[in-house]
Amino acid sequence: MTYRDGTSELLGASREIDVLWITAGLGCDGDTIAITAATQPTLEELVMGAIPGIPRVNFHNPFLSYENGDEFVDLFHRAAEGATRPFILVVEGSIPNENNKSEGYWAAFGTNKETGQPITTCEWIDRLAPKAWAVVAAGTCSTYGGIHAMEGNPTGCMGLPDYLGWNWKSSSGIPIVCVPGCPVLPDNFMETLLYLLYQSAGRSPMIPLDDALRPTWLFNQTVHEGCDRGGYYEQAEFAEEYGSRTCIVKLGCWGPVVQCSVGERGWINGMGGGSNVGGICIGCTMPGFPDKFMPFMDQPPGSLLSSHAVMTYGKAIHALRKFTQASLNKEPSWRRRNTKTSAPN
Ligand code: SF4
Ligand code: SF4
Repeated sequence: MTYRDGTSELLGASREIDVLWITAGLGCDGDTIAITAATQPTLEELVMGAIPGIPRVNFHNPFLSYENGDEFVDLFHRAAEGATRPFILVVEGSIPNENNKSEGYWAAFGTNKETGQPITTCEWIDRLAPKAWAVVAAGTCSTYGGIHAMEGNPTGCMGLPDYLGWNWKSSSGIPIVCVPGCPVLPDNFMETLLYLLYQSAGRSPMIPLDDALRPTWLFNQTVHEGCDRGGYYEQAEFAEEYGSRTCIVKLGCWGPVVQCSVGERGWINGMGGGSNVGGICIGCTMPGFPDKFMPFMDQPPGSLLSSHAVMTYGKAIHALRKFTQASLNKEPSWRRRNTKTSAPN
């Protein structure tokens, strides 16, 4: 059944939904900052009820909430006890292994009032995830571990699917939704959240995810396929130093093999973003990031072969195009110049 305002029985009797956002993984809070730049939709549109067909959204993020201190933490306690509205749990930051040491903790927020001890991030996830309507991992640290999970790190940290299990599903049957990016592309995250809100209202089918649990429509193309510099690559015009407008694959860009929508979508309001503005793609949306992409500034091994292959025909094609372009820059021969001053035929 769908209510007149669009929300459905997927949310039970509630026509509101809470978004509970934990930033207490190992991370830099960059994903929280990133979403303040979203435009499709904006955070303001979401929380002010400007989007029809979705439940009313109560957004609780430690940086962006009105509540502070115990008042803020109490929201999470109540949700863990099942005493609140349906909620979407968003986790930002890498999940540490709290079992790999004899004392202390790696990450926590809030204090246990009975013991006076910090409540670890892992404990929050253990308590909240089973009760969440959906669970979203925001940013690469939370999705796949990211920089904190590099080889040799002491925290043993990992992404949410490695922590909860790749086949884990929420109480409503939704797999973990991963929106990677370092930080997350603002509109990728907000669009995913909006999709889930429509799904909660019975207005969209199960969110489609790829094998790495990323929304398929956002991650099914490479940076290269949408890059503003793709034309230069095809013509084998490769930059030897930063500041050039040509393709930067020889400076270390991994765009041809990295699944990310930044090339096509830009970063803020359709503008900028990674290789479009001269920054090499270092593969931050991929589960193998960062170890498999290092050292960052070297030319990716595969691209050595492909850029050499492109050289063989790219230069010839470029020369032919210049020839055609020169011709097209001239008016057809039957148009006469200086007609006003020349004698009639
Ligand atoms: Fe492809 Fe990177 Fe070159 Fe853009 S800069 S065309 S993504 S290799
Ligand atoms: Fe990350 Fe590359 Fe996408 Fe930039 S273009 S956000 S480095 S995957």
